[in-house]
Amino acid sequence: MFIGHFAVAFASRRVAPRTSLAWLLAATQFADILWPIFLLLGWEHVRIDPTATRFSPLDLYDFPWSHSLAALTVWATVFAGIYWGVTRYRRGAIVLWFCVLSHWVLDWIAHRPDMPLYPGSLRFGLGLWNSVPGTMIVELIMLAAGVWLYTRATRPRDRIGRYGFATYILFLLASYIGDRFSEPPPSVQALIWAAVIFIPLFVVWAAWFDAHRNPVIADGEMTRRLDHVASV
Ligand SMILES: [Zn+2]
Repeated sequence: MFIGHFAVAFASRRVAPRTSLAWLLAATQFADILWPIFLLLGWEHVRIDPTATRFSPLDLYDFPWSHSLAALTVWATVFAGIYWGVTRYRRGAIVLWFCVLSHWVLDWIAHRPDMPLYPGSLRFGLGLWNSVPGTMIVELIMLAAGVWLYTRATRPRDRIGRYGFATYILFLLASYIGDRFSEPPPSVQALIWAAVIFIPLFVVWAAWFDAHRNPVIADGEMTRRLDHVASV
């Protein structure tokens, strides 16, 4: 899954109003941030196989340290712990923990059975990627819902908050659709460098426009609402 991970980050912005979208994006994609690094280190392996699934040409036969459920639980705790250490914002840390783990759930839906529970375990996957229209419909609906929630959770303060954000969504869609109609990566090296460059670019760009948008609901207000829901 690709833009589905962005959708979860956008949607989570309202639940943790003081957490930057950049942190949320880094969390939902943390597995894919670690993955190219672990490939470079030789800890994980991938093959390019255009017949792997209809949507993705990757044979993800070995990535337990970035993508198993157990590893992601550890990474989620490390990630949320660092955030809590830096900000002391408990709600944000909890939301980020779930965001890191959400990666496994979305990849489990999209991938063929290649998602391990722990290194060396049986591997699982529902295989949405076997259908191109199915994948695109699910991911685009998710993105639309996430972006809609984000625009209700934040308001642009200036032009950067408005147009920096709009351009971002267009660029995201263009790269998603462009990727769909391009050839598979020529080599694993090319794949690694694309991942190393693009994911951080999307995180930094989001930090920029998100800092120019204000949360609509104050944090205390959100807390009261959630407490109310919990007490009903
Ligand atoms: Zn992934």
